[in-house]
Amino acid sequence: MKNAHWHGFTQMAGLEPLVIESAQGCWLQTVDGRRLFDGVSSLWCNVHGHRNPHIDAAVEQQLKKVSHITTLGMSCETTERLATKLAEITPGDLGHVFFSSDGSSAVEAALKMAFQYWQQCETAEVGSTSLNSTSLSSTSLSTGKTKYLALSGAYHGDTTGAVSLGGIKYFHKLFAPILFTPIRGPIPCTYRYPDGVTPETACEHYAREIENLLEQHHHELAAVVIEPLVQGAAGIITHPEGLLLRLRQLCDQYNVLLICDEVAVGFGRTGKLFACEQENVTPDILCLGKGLTGGYLPMAATIARPHIYEAFLAEIKESKQFFHGHTFAGNPLAAAAALASIELLETTTILEDVTTKSAFLIEQLKPLLDHPHVGNIRGRGLMIGIELVTDKSTRAAFDPGLLMGKRVCDEAMKGGVWLRPLSDVVVVMPPLVSTDDELDFLANVVINSIEKVC
Ligand code: PLP
Repeated sequence: MKNAHWHGFTQMAGLEPLVIESAQGCWLQTVDGRRLFDGVSSLWCNVHGHRNPHIDAAVEQQLKKVSHITTLGMSCETTERLATKLAEITPGDLGHVFFSSDGSSAVEAALKMAFQYWQQCETAEVGSTSLNSTSLSSTSLSTGKTKYLALSGAYHGDTTGAVSLGGIKYFHKLFAPILFTPIRGPIPCTYRYPDGVTPETACEHYAREIENLLEQHHHELAAVVIEPLVQGAAGIITHPEGLLLRLRQLCDQYNVLLICDEVAVGFGRTGKLFACEQENVTPDILCLGKGLTGGYLPMAATIARPHIYEAFLAEIKESKQFFHGHTFAGNPLAAAAALASIELLETTTILEDVTTKSAFLIEQLKPLLDHPHVGNIRGRGLMIGIELVTDKSTRAAFDPGLLMGKRVCDEAMKGGVWLRPLSDVVVVMPPLVSTDDELDFLANVVINSIEKVC
């Protein structure tokens, strides 16, 4: 049956999907014989290229043992090893790993974890009153800390809780009646500052805006949820340096949990294993996905610090266990792929090379800065966005109906590169193992495509 496969975020009418037969390294081979460079790392998740022999072998070995078992109260040795490894390599005392299957679910788990944590805290703050907690067997809430603060332009996934946090109108407007409403912070953009704000004052400006919200709402806030350093789906929006650290300080000051969603920026994208490390920040809860398995298999993780985890420990009859769990959480095949991927990141220079590769790619893209419709090239590490504008001086956007970003990406495909835009931001996010020759090829195709379309 034609179009039996219903694609996400894709208009199906008239769709002729690109069908991939095989992939090797950073290249995709289509069934109709085209060879395409994977310029967005298979939706931002591929780290080591496709068919990496080390990861392939790890998955094959695991297949010979067990492919799946539940992790509700049981486990397998591979999944246990992965949990220990993640506890070791994530920042600070993050140490308790809750597995799920995709980034949205990792965020969803973090939201519920933060909520339940406050209900089970020894001393939960309600306004200015301190209450001793009771277990959740009672229906009344033991604390008013039941809301979340999220940023404008935020994207945390497509499940209902994650969409509620989202600040991209296009994605969540339609669903508003079934969503909760977070406290909404600013979009700490470094390309379009509010009047009077300069690069030097931006960090403090945005921190102050967020502090004002915390001052007003801390008594009802369970957590601040952010994408650290770069807001991906908003259009590779880079935050001012230092803002993440200021947020950590503010969350401590106002007794609100900090949840960092590193689904997109984790596992080397920004040049450190975790983006939080760029500002020496340890969130209370860290969400990982995409690159966790090197982009091989669906797996995500929500990792908590001990003070969170310990609030869930009690006698069985007290019903304080985390009320959440997925069938495929901690899948052994995915765990094997994740361990192999992490091993590669630990034993090769892939991670330290990201900074040089990023500088090289930006240098190759530099001719675009003279183009009348390229407003901005920005990013961190190998996560780069090229924003197309109708007028460089005013930074005004093109009419969305012109689909400039999509047209550039369609053109790039003719040149041999697979890209997927975010409105008029051309996203360039190649696998971390891309060679200089490949990055050079990628940059040339992007430049030619923009020149042809704009
Ligand atoms: N969080 C962030 C920051 C993301 O960029 C994404 C996906 O792009 C998600 C969560 C959702 O992840 P998934 O698509 O695996 O559900």
